[in-house]
Amino acid sequence: MSQLQIRNIGQLFVGKGQVLTGQALAIDHGRVSYLGAEGGLTARGDVIDAGGGLVSPGLVDAHTHLVFAGDRADEFAQRCAGATYLEIAQKGGGILSTVRATQLASEKELVELALPRLAALLAQGVTTAEVKSGYGLTVDDELKMLRVIRRLQGLQPISLVPTLLALHAVPQGVDRSAWVRTVLTELLPRVAQDKLAVFCDVFVEQSAFTADEAREVLRAARALGLLPRLHVDQLTPGKGAELAAELSAVTADHLEHASDAGMRALGAAGTVAVLAPISTLYLRQRPFANGRKLRDAGVSVALCTNCNPGSAMTENVALAMGLACLECGLTPLEALEAFTGNAAHALRVQHAGHLRLGDPADVVIFKAKSPAHLVWHLGQSEVRAVLKAGKLVHGG
Ligand SMILES: [Zn+2]
Repeated sequence: MSQLQIRNIGQLFVGKGQVLTGQALAIDHGRVSYLGAEGGLTARGDVIDAGGGLVSPGLVDAHTHLVFAGDRADEFAQRCAGATYLEIAQKGGGILSTVRATQLASEKELVELALPRLAALLAQGVTTAEVKSGYGLTVDDELKMLRVIRRLQGLQPISLVPTLLALHAVPQGVDRSAWVRTVLTELLPRVAQDKLAVFCDVFVEQSAFTADEAREVLRAARALGLLPRLHVDQLTPGKGAELAAELSAVTADHLEHASDAGMRALGAAGTVAVLAPISTLYLRQRPFANGRKLRDAGVSVALCTNCNPGSAMTENVALAMGLACLECGLTPLEALEAFTGNAAHALRVQHAGHLRLGDPADVVIFKAKSPAHLVWHLGQSEVRAVLKAGKLVHGG
């Protein structure tokens, strides 16, 4: 593979809050081989003109549920008319309606439904994304979802990090403790044996699972080599941040209702907060998660689209970043960091989220000139081109 150069970069965001100017990049064999003054580049290789735009590491979406079948537009309309997420869930809608459709779909159908969603994420600059199971809710259907994620890895450029979310909702017509037992005794060992997931996640909420169930499943998962993460404090306050810290979870996601003590505990535990402000908007919930307070408590804050059919039917990274600034108290540069280095840390992916010599060249070239310009054009993708391991995979 020949050398590729990116010249005429306006601002270069390399990670850890660092924005450089007057710099160029060269890429050899898919890796960053030069990062320095443009005058220091040799003449060989193809050139991409960044047009004076912002260049950043490939974006990382730390939380998605983008493998699913079915349609929940009717629920969206019900919410517009005043129904709440919990009311819809209690009537058998919500997650369980997606579960019914996903159980009926074949692996091939699920792959075909997910590919355009991944293409939309790529067009937003995403080169690494987490994807969860959780719409199967039987041993076979959860394994089917994880196999779909594995197949998707070979069919498109985004690196995928799979998560088992068997405790997403209580399956219909099944005793909840029986499902927890099945997950512990049958599903977890099979997922671990076939290495089908990196993370194990639990939705802790009044409508979902309890803190004790999460403790039991995440401890068992960790013993089998799966890393713990949690959906907590999303719809109601439940001391979920405290639970995530107690379990040394890698991430605590949502956190709209996290307590001050919980935020401090996350900071002390080194648990990454993954905020999903699109879902707060989409569910017509308040408050938004307090990203400012979390950062002030020493918590690393990441962002996600949370792409899913119920609470965020969108792949719009630009909207998530804009909301994080307008409603969660992050600065534009912090929002970009939350979609790069902090999200990579949330997924325990070493060589993503920053640009350093020798890293795989996952790079986004924006039309926007600066992080502030990214969010100023609210909800609009400012992406000009995306490189995955040095290969142009979107735009040009
Ligand atoms: Zn989620």
